[in-house]
Amino acid sequence: MEIKIGVISCSGEECFGGTATRLATRKILETIKTDESVTICLPLFLAGGEEERNFAKEYPTISVDGCNKLCAKRGTEKYSGDVNGYIIASDIIGEELAFSNITSLRDLKEEHNEAIDSLVIEIEKEINRILKK
Ligand code: SF4
Repeated sequence: MEIKIGVISCSGEECFGGTATRLATRKILETIKTDESVTICLPLFLAGGEEERNFAKEYPTISVDGCNKLCAKRGTEKYSGDVNGYIIASDIIGEELAFSNITSLRDLKEEHNEAIDSLVIEIEKEINRILKK
């Protein structure tokens, strides 16, 4: 069976860090690791979507959180088991940027796109690390 990694972003709406996790995860799924990754809708997962919960039990998962509140990691572990890898955007792109209140795609500037790309690189590294195991 082809191994797919479940990437779960916190998708926080309140700050750029959360927005960045969603955009970086989408980029991974759509252009970088199209055959090896799949995402799970965190709100549906938390609300009790059976398919989502079964998926996360069955496949390796990586949580991608905007900050150290770790909503995606905690939610996944509460309902499904330990994640195989996790990323905290504020550790990678810096707290100032992660906690800034840019949440609209219209407001993204070069520094934001660069931050998203650095998250993409980290997610890709985590996927490769898990696939090699
Ligand atoms: S991890 Fe941080 S950025 Fe993401 S939803 Fe939770 S509080 Fe918001």
